[in-house]
Amino acid sequence: MFEGVEEIWMDGEFVDFEDAQVHVLTHALHYGTGVFEGVRCYDTAEGPAIFRWEEHLDRLFNSAEVYDIDIPFSKRELDEATRELIDREGLQSCYIRPIAFYGYGPLGLNPGKSPEQVAIAVWPWGAYLGEEALEEGVDTAISSWRKYASSQIPTNAKTTGTYVNSVLASLEAKGNGYEEAIVLNKEGNVAEGPGENLFLVRDGEIYTTGLAESILDGITRRTVIELARDMGYTVHDDATISRGELYTADELFFTGTAAEVTPIRTVDDNEIGKGTKGPITDEIQTRFFEVVEEGEPERWFDYV
Ligand code: PMP
Repeated sequence: MFEGVEEIWMDGEFVDFEDAQVHVLTHALHYGTGVFEGVRCYDTAEGPAIFRWEEHLDRLFNSAEVYDIDIPFSKRELDEATRELIDREGLQSCYIRPIAFYGYGPLGLNPGKSPEQVAIAVWPWGAYLGEEALEEGVDTAISSWRKYASSQIPTNAKTTGTYVNSVLASLEAKGNGYEEAIVLNKEGNVAEGPGENLFLVRDGEIYTTGLAESILDGITRRTVIELARDMGYTVHDDATISRGELYTADELFFTGTAAEVTPIRTVDDNEIGKGTKGPITDEIQTRFFEVVEEGEPERWFDYV
């Protein structure tokens, strides 16, 4: 995955890939006290551009605020570091991973005295679930692991430690021969995928689980809601979706920075629609890729 990556930006400096290290007594390693982002830079018609960068930076700083992580750099500094890193790595398109965390310090649960650290890595990353997944869709299974509730851990923060929930769901799905999991919330309704939001199509209208369903406020989710509305579709963005409704949906798809717009072809071995990418999913996916290839609308792109 990281073949050819030469440098990582860490705590204000560009360091060689091998030297981007932390101490084993890092607070975040023990307690998961880090926050991060996943962002894509696309090779648009106008050159490499970071997609919805402002929103990702906002979400990073908001996630940090929840845990009192005082990121010792401004958004502008992180922006400049990222652009320079992409440039130094000579990448036209890439995945961007900023992370801020409590570093080496006292290992009490209250991280008060641990210093905040920040790193940014960039690397080429193609289709998260594979090129075939984008065309044919993925086979999914409902996870036996529930999504933690937002009353237990904030689900609007992208926190390193909480990804053990996603890891468990992912391990289970892969272990049982599926490509991806769908995770239900504490109430037993649909939350999201381990690293994706979920959309459902029924009778020509589009539904996605509401923010109150213990989901991450996905930036691709926001993008697809806006694009679909512009295309004339009715989008219900505060839906509660039951497990049974998944089985009888006309179409289902995932959205995410890594997964982009990935159709879901089966859930628990039940074929969704015709068991391949549905027509509305296809239209939305086509529009999404058009947007990121063209770099339009301009307000969604920051050129490197
Ligand atoms: N839910 C979870 C749990 C995720 O990890 C992600 C990926 N960040 C998403 C949804 C999709 O969010 P975004 O579109 O902002 O990548």
